[in-house]
Amino acid sequence: MARVYNFSAGPAAMPESVLREAQGEMLDYRGTGMSVLEMSHRSKEYQAIIDDAEAALRELYSIPDDYRVLFLQGGATLQFAGVPMNLMRTGHAGYLVSGGWSKKAWQEAARYGQADVLASSEDTHFDHVPTLGAPVSQDLDYVYICQNETVFGTMYRALPQTGSVTLVSDVSSMFLSCPIDVTRYGLVYAGAQKNGGPAGVTVVIVRDDLIQDGPALADITPTYMGYKLQADKGSMYNTPNTYGIYLCGKIFRWVLDGGGVEAMGERNWSKVQPLYDAIDQSPFYAGYAQPQDRSIANVTFHTPTPELDAAFVAGAREHGIVNIKGHRSLGGLRASCYNAVSEEAVSALISYMGEFEAAHAAEARSL
Ligand SMILES: *Cc1c(COP(=O)(O)O)cnc(C)c1O
Repeated sequence: MARVYNFSAGPAAMPESVLREAQGEMLDYRGTGMSVLEMSHRSKEYQAIIDDAEAALRELYSIPDDYRVLFLQGGATLQFAGVPMNLMRTGHAGYLVSGGWSKKAWQEAARYGQADVLASSEDTHFDHVPTLGAPVSQDLDYVYICQNETVFGTMYRALPQTGSVTLVSDVSSMFLSCPIDVTRYGLVYAGAQKNGGPAGVTVVIVRDDLIQDGPALADITPTYMGYKLQADKGSMYNTPNTYGIYLCGKIFRWVLDGGGVEAMGERNWSKVQPLYDAIDQSPFYAGYAQPQDRSIANVTFHTPTPELDAAFVAGAREHGIVNIKGHRSLGGLRASCYNAVSEEAVSALISYMGEFEAAHAAEARSL
């Protein structure tokens, strides 16, 4: 069986050892005589699975006791509404718009209250992360960022200074990629399918005092979306994504066994740096994101023409390199180098880039 070099932005490559372990437990989970897929979410066996997933995540990020961990459904996208519904107590929040995801989050929030764009990089097609030009009003309910922009390949290396205003961050595509200090945020969340598990699970980490009075917009918040209720019910107000959470737990353990998020961060930066170097050193390839804001995971670049980009993608397949095409809103190429993408995969990509350049440089020069 040949496993490909999978650079998918999400759902993305998962560690082979985790997939094998899940395969081994598929028909009979640890002597229960049933698959996790067939197990009641109210059983003690399943409770142990979700408890272990939470414990592993708490260990990974040193999550303090006054933060709650939720495993929800509806993707990161549902949290675009969940955040304002739960946190917009005065009805006024600020958004930093660094790409399509934070733009969508801002547009969604504007349906529920006043959502101001505090800064945006849209005028330069999201090639960098926008920063605050002036101190933020201390009356805002929260300031929102998307910390790693999956589509454009940018990342906040430093967090915006919001004073005493709660910071909310969508960390979907940098979840478990590197350390984050949870105490700097009121709420962080991530769709799991980028780096933390399969599609269908969204992890929300939220400080208790922000949710203890229930949703800010209690009249219209779907019961399911009340963070306080979900926290009190242990993410089991209704049937959770049982199998997805089980796989997330295995990934969390795999990251811990690999040295934790510090080790992942070091490994990931040293994994992507040669790729950025290859792009920078070549007259043929060009990076998309401004170097100071480049992502730890999503490497965006392009060849001299869209036709050559397409030829690059087609030729990559023959080298076992897949899911390298840029997002439809940006075009070009994108290599998402999440935790489960090996250094060997990145090396294979770099050497293919060299071959492709050698084969097409003359043609590109004649354009
Ligand atoms: C993928 C992604 C989303 C959307 O996730 P869904 O689970 O498809 O809703 C939102 N934000 C970021 C940063 C993403 O990478």
